Amino acid sequence: MGDESKHQCCGIDDETMERYAMDRLQDAVVCEHLETCAFCKARVAERRQWIADLKRVLQAQLAAKPSDRTRRPTNLPMRPEDA
Ligand SMILES: [Zn+2]
Repeated sequence: MGDESKHQCCGIDDETMERYAMDRLQDAVVCEHLETCAFCKARVAERRQWIADLKRVLQAQLAAKPSDRTRRPTNLPMRPEDA
């Protein structure tokens, strides 16, 4: 429980945050918190942006020529970290 302040706000962890950003979170109480808490909303917005960027890169990869697909994506967006 040492670095809670760095990775968590309001007890919501990154995995939950990401699931919410992907519209896959089932927990109504947490969803409501994420919709109303300004700090969490900012974190969700960061993750939504990251997921959108990631999808764009992956779709570009899929659209690439088959010969290019074997190359590993090297330009994946950075996963957001909390300051
Ligand atoms: Zn919050």
